[in-house]
Amino acid sequence: MSSYRDDLAQEVQLIRNADDRAAEYLRQIGQRRVFPSDESLAGLAAFDEALPEHGKDPAEGLALLDEKGSPATVATNDPRYFGFVIGAALPAAAAAERLMLSWDQSASLFLGSPVAAKIEKIAANWLLEILDLPRESAVGFGTSATACTLACIAAARRSILARQGWDVDDNGLTGAPEVEIVISETAHITVKKALRVLGFGLKRIHVVPCDPFGRLDPSQLPPLSDRTILVLQAGEVNTGEFDAFKDIVPLARAAGAWVHVDGAFGLWARASSHAHLTEGIEQAESWTTDGHKWLNTPYDCAMAICRDADALAGAMNSDAVYSSASPDAQKNLTLEFSRRPRGIPVWAALRSLGKAGVAEMVERHCSLARQIAEGLEDAGFTVLNRVVLNQVLACATNDEETKAVIRAAQDSGEMWFGASVWQGRAAFRISVSSWRTSAPHVEKLIALMKEIRRQQSQ
Ligand SMILES: *Cc1c(COP(=O)(O)O)cnc(C)c1O
Repeated sequence: MSSYRDDLAQEVQLIRNADDRAAEYLRQIGQRRVFPSDESLAGLAAFDEALPEHGKDPAEGLALLDEKGSPATVATNDPRYFGFVIGAALPAAAAAERLMLSWDQSASLFLGSPVAAKIEKIAANWLLEILDLPRESAVGFGTSATACTLACIAAARRSILARQGWDVDDNGLTGAPEVEIVISETAHITVKKALRVLGFGLKRIHVVPCDPFGRLDPSQLPPLSDRTILVLQAGEVNTGEFDAFKDIVPLARAAGAWVHVDGAFGLWARASSHAHLTEGIEQAESWTTDGHKWLNTPYDCAMAICRDADALAGAMNSDAVYSSASPDAQKNLTLEFSRRPRGIPVWAALRSLGKAGVAEMVERHCSLARQIAEGLEDAGFTVLNRVVLNQVLACATNDEETKAVIRAAQDSGEMWFGASVWQGRAAFRISVSSWRTSAPHVEKLIALMKEIRRQQSQ
């Protein structure tokens, strides 16, 4: 029988093995295709094994994972990835994650992990400072903007109903006064998902048309009241545009409505010289933002921020006789009960960048996006958005050509960005959000796009 000591030695060896492979993956990433080759994809067949009757050697499993799995990753942790708004993983945050795996903390409450309780509080305070949001707000570190928006809207509904004398926890929704939802035409699909899951029928939601830039048109707002939840947007996924918070939020507040802001990536503009885009946002009631997008933490990492700390803590409360905690314990601010301390990578990212580093990263990405837009126009593409942030939305002469450009770019293996549709036209969407991306990568992207354009027009 193996001793505890032998087992530990083997475990340490396995972790070192994994770390060596992880380091090698990072070293190689710039030399490979951004999206895996057909051969790498075919290699995934190696995982088609039957569930083993008896356990297999973990080192052999790790080798399989690395040898067949690593080549079939999308190189999102590479400067040449421009898809979605994915971001890479900052070294400080990724390293914190590695250490945390050995800790194996259940960061629900102080008793589960004093270190997580402490650091997540610091991370919450730093976050409110760098995003300049009301310092009394509660911050729940959740898995995603989707989950955090759901938590915030649940808190909003509970508060609105409480003001109407309705206890939703006890009485549920049947017979409750109706809470009206107002969103913009370009609201993110996950906002609609959160609303749908919460029981707001999509056909009963008031959808406000947008202006040509993709911002909610304030002149088309329905009457708002103290039974309204209005969801605004900081950073529309195609155009990067911001709703006109400084005009809309005061109106909504005066009517007694609850304003929630989906700022999955766009809220980070507030930590930079682009903060003016977010003017008035601080008057909202709740906000969602991601760590795993523009802050470049690993997945899953997002924040639910709620001015009325008791409202979020009330909606998300999960105290039990065997597990009661303070209202600001993370299990009382998020959907999860058992959870890993995902505020720690946020702390590590903010600590390693500092305020100046976050501002520099955001500003660099915005200026690279403008450079891409100019390069694309030079090459004969049409840029469809104003490029106010880190998103460039563009197209070729017609839908067919646009689709061919996207295919050629993806097939090149030298970059990756995805397709979208804007105002009925096929488009491609280039997002600059990796901390690794700098001018040379953008120059290469522009050169490749010029070459694709040249070949197409032959
Ligand atoms: C990505 C995104 C979301 C969803 O965020 P997840 O963290 O992936 O759930 C919501 N809104 C906007 C604007 C986004 O870009």
